[in-house]
Amino acid sequence: MTCKSSSKKYAVGVDLGGTKICTAVIDSDGRVITETTIPTNAAEGPERVIGRIKGTIRHVIRQSGVYFDMIAGIGIGSPGPLNWKTGEVLSSPNLPGWDRIPLRKIIQQSFDLPTYLENDANAAAIGEHRYGAGSGVDNMVYITISTGIGGGIICGGRIYRGETGMAGEVGHMIVNPGGPECKCGNKGCLEAFSSGTAIASRMRERLASKQYGEWRKDCLSAKDVFEAAEKGVEAARKVVQEAIYYLGVGVLNLTHLFNPRIIVIGGGVANGSPFVVESIRQFVREKAFRGVAEAVDIVPAGLGALAGVIGAATLPFVREDENR
Ligand SMILES: [Zn+2]
Repeated sequence: MTCKSSSKKYAVGVDLGGTKICTAVIDSDGRVITETTIPTNAAEGPERVIGRIKGTIRHVIRQSGVYFDMIAGIGIGSPGPLNWKTGEVLSSPNLPGWDRIPLRKIIQQSFDLPTYLENDANAAAIGEHRYGAGSGVDNMVYITISTGIGGGIICGGRIYRGETGMAGEVGHMIVNPGGPECKCGNKGCLEAFSSGTAIASRMRERLASKQYGEWRKDCLSAKDVFEAAEKGVEAARKVVQEAIYYLGVGVLNLTHLFNPRIIVIGGGVANGSPFVVESIRQFVREKAFRGVAEAVDIVPAGLGALAGVIGAATLPFVREDENR
């Protein structure tokens, strides 16, 4: 019997972020047919943002030239917390005014296509697993290091969501209980040391007490700090060393917990410097149990900056397979 879905070779992905919305049409081999990015303007509230999401979906479908009835569905990756089962975005510090918004239902009704909602890091992990660095692997951990730190865990070939869908919060793994306060309220989370935001703010703290030539404390990004470290600015070197050390600790813990075949590291901070992944790899090689260390490869993300949107677009294909 021919499966009805077999003719549906395309899917739409929406990577909803606090600053931008990236939308794409991909084919079932993970190739991006067309992609577009627009500002979220999150401060305008959910109604306007949802209007923009609908507009950008219509735009990419039209631009792709793909017939509507060839589209398997729409996948949305959104910052959490959210309920992937009901498709509601519960609330998000990055999306002001969002509170139990039934995003999946709204989009599904607008386009009359199967629609899926997933935590953005889980969506990226699913994308990397199907089409990126983790392709063909059963056990994988994905970590994204950008403004924050997120992650997704693939166990036995499937995303591991935990009891309430919140598994994989690798950024809030405590790596030093005496460490700086995290925005979650705890102290010493990995995110409080090693996210792009943390790297910039820890540099600012160091600069507050001293003058460092042209390094202005009000316009620093993690990228500036990495560049300063490369130029030998001592304060920057210390901040970068500390950030990488704790990434090593975090990844070592994940390696021992999950005994994965592969750990995929993505996000702007990791993509910006190959030396981040290499340093983590060395740390884990030195410290992990031998049987675990020998099994794991620690590699950069294969889908690069498009991991989020490709992951979101992967959801209709993956959920279709799961239900089969
Ligand atoms: Zn935290």
